[in-house]
Amino acid sequence: MTDLIIVLEPGASEARVAAVLARVEGYGFDVHRANGAEQVVLSAVGGAPDFDARHVRVLDGVKDVVRVTSPYKFASRTWHPADTIVDVDGVPVGGPEVVVIAGPCAIEGEDQIEAAAEAVAAAGARMLRGGAFKPRTSPYAFQGLGEDGLRMMRAAADRHGLKVVTEVMRPNQLAVVARYAHVLQIGARNMQNFPLLQEAGRTGLPVLLKRGMAATIEEWLMSAEYVLAEGNPRVILCERGIRTFETATRNTLDLAAVPVVKQRSHLPILVDPSHGVGYRDKVTPLARAAVAVGADGLLVEAHPDPARALSDGPQSLPLDGFADLMVQVRLVAEAIGRTVQAPHAAPVETFAA
Ligand code: PEP
Ligand code: MN
Repeated sequence: MTDLIIVLEPGASEARVAAVLARVEGYGFDVHRANGAEQVVLSAVGGAPDFDARHVRVLDGVKDVVRVTSPYKFASRTWHPADTIVDVDGVPVGGPEVVVIAGPCAIEGEDQIEAAAEAVAAAGARMLRGGAFKPRTSPYAFQGLGEDGLRMMRAAADRHGLKVVTEVMRPNQLAVVARYAHVLQIGARNMQNFPLLQEAGRTGLPVLLKRGMAATIEEWLMSAEYVLAEGNPRVILCERGIRTFETATRNTLDLAAVPVVKQRSHLPILVDPSHGVGYRDKVTPLARAAVAVGADGLLVEAHPDPARALSDGPQSLPLDGFADLMVQVRLVAEAIGRTVQAPHAAPVETFAA
């Protein structure tokens, strides 16, 4: 349903007001008129869910139109007041535990992903990240190891009791990625790749949906709606910084998005401070802030040798730096009544297929 508040120009003639009212009724709304001292305000309720409010905005005599219903339904808290907890193969995302996903930007080889998996698991991460299909700004930059990388990552994750989060860039990669991943990551550059969202939705796997770098929160939630509308309720949002006029950081991490999303939607939301700021010395302070502001988890880039990383080295924490981040975010989590998985000294032995 669409509900609108329509403000007429002050001094709009009676004939104009009547014409607007009739037109809006013609669009299927039930319209109520309020005569203010200076202007007439119409409240129009019951329009079609996909009604384009600009049809009203462009009518003569209309000063302003405010849409008072959200254009998304499944993503909205209105129809689903309780928080959604996304179960990732036994790891709950969106509950009291702040879930940390960490690993390199890209899978570069067996030794690299093994070292990362061992260290992030020992520090208390729950999932291993790493791209095998990389959306690089330059076509000449390292594009990822593809399926070989996925195989290495899954093996390392299984050895250390971690779940696998990895990006899928196009629909024809879904089948191969789904063989190795517990969570499908849809990157910022693909947030509005609607066929990819739909097909990722149809896999039924959890989808980690990053915010586009120039996307409003409403547009982001509409993208989540694409996945949810396929009957897949397992969407995890991830704020990763947006483009602004600021150049001191790679992106501007919009931490305000966390409480805004929490109010509008029941979906869990993570924060990626690594892409959000772009420089490793600022990742831990932003991770602390993200937990304090209510994020349900973090997505952090950590690499055994960031100086030699094939992608995003400057924003990647070394593994000891990541362990320190975990100590700090655990303290913040505990201060607000949440938890972060405890560190453990030895790698967990799990059944590896
Ligand atoms: C990534 O997580 O490595 C990545 C490419 O992120 P984003 O889509 O947010 O740029
Ligand atoms: Mn990256």
